[in-house]
Amino acid sequence: MPFDLQSRLAARHADHLYRQRPLLEAPQGPAVVVDGKPLLQFCSNDYLGLANHPEVIAAMQQGAANWGVGGGASHLVIGHSTPHHQLEEALAEFTGRPRALLFSTGYMANLAAVTALAGQGDTVLEDRLNHASLLDAGLLSGARFSRYLHNDATSLAKRLEKASGNTLVVTDGVFSMDGDLADLPALCAEAKRHGAWVMVDDAHGFGPLGANGGGIVEHFGLGIDEVPVLVGTLGKAFGTAGAFVAGSEELIETLIQFARPYIYTTSQPPAVACATLKSLQLLRRENWRREHLAALIARFRQGAVDIGLTLVDSPTPIQPILVGSSARAMKLSAALRERGCLVGAIRPPTVPAGTARLRVTFSASHTEAQVEQLLDILAECWNRMAEEPEADA
Ligand code: PMP
Repeated sequence: MPFDLQSRLAARHADHLYRQRPLLEAPQGPAVVVDGKPLLQFCSNDYLGLANHPEVIAAMQQGAANWGVGGGASHLVIGHSTPHHQLEEALAEFTGRPRALLFSTGYMANLAAVTALAGQGDTVLEDRLNHASLLDAGLLSGARFSRYLHNDATSLAKRLEKASGNTLVVTDGVFSMDGDLADLPALCAEAKRHGAWVMVDDAHGFGPLGANGGGIVEHFGLGIDEVPVLVGTLGKAFGTAGAFVAGSEELIETLIQFARPYIYTTSQPPAVACATLKSLQLLRRENWRREHLAALIARFRQGAVDIGLTLVDSPTPIQPILVGSSARAMKLSAALRERGCLVGAIRPPTVPAGTARLRVTFSASHTEAQVEQLLDILAECWNRMAEEPEADA
């Protein structure tokens, strides 16, 4: 039977779920040019504004001059170079763990860690709102896989009681579509009671959270005993690309020996590791970035409440505005764009049905005036939409 792709695509359109890629035609930052139009954007994950920092760019240029532009091979063949190694040592020191292992993407780091640790006869328990890469990893692992209610230690406990084999509890640190924090103290206590390990993917917490940008584990003061498997990504607050898993000597050696997404792929370009070494220094040193970002978030939340918007209880740069149906999310996002603001509309299946939202994200490179501008435009578009009948919900 021939593949009927046309019908699939048409159904996607009819459900208001068709996705399009905005074309970025000028460097990233708060002010961008997208599809030929200058816009103020609130949808990037460059939370600390390091992605086009001159010192990070210079480090990458120097790295390319010294090391070339490609990794050349997988880490186990001849692709593991000094910049990769130095970055792993720096990330181990930063996270306070014996070792760290570098990956080319966060998606792969998550696949690697879960599938290397859990297999047939084991149990993987995940928050139902975990990032897709973690859910995919749980499914691929071949372990018994179950999702507990969002951030609910009681729901986790029920599943832990039925678990068999080695048990891995997996959670986002900061939930990527809601911006809320995992209740790690409660989840870790429950896991410990049942002899399970906890794996935290803190893609969105490293940088903005913790006094030194050490993410959710620094925020809650949790060490390697509570969180033996800690994942961070480098394409967000670090401003570069890639990811890492930090943990014990044995954990990292296990990944090197058994994690197929680590073994069978080319290492990231060493120049990217050179850039990340620089951005890690800036991320740790420049506290003003975290402080400025926190002030912008506080101002936005107050302004959004004044407008009457529904927010999520999020202390992070991810500030979703809940609007309900996909159609409404698309409409509000289009109205904002019309007035010069780019904010992503997030729809099912990325989020549960009925919880479509605008995912507003902030960066230390935004100014207070830009946040005021967003609030003014939001108020205008929201009030206008409220006056219109919702024919399409
Ligand atoms: N984990 C989380 C929570 C994420 O939000 C993302 C990316 N959006 C990833 C993992 C994947 O990271 P990467 O983009 O480096 O593949």
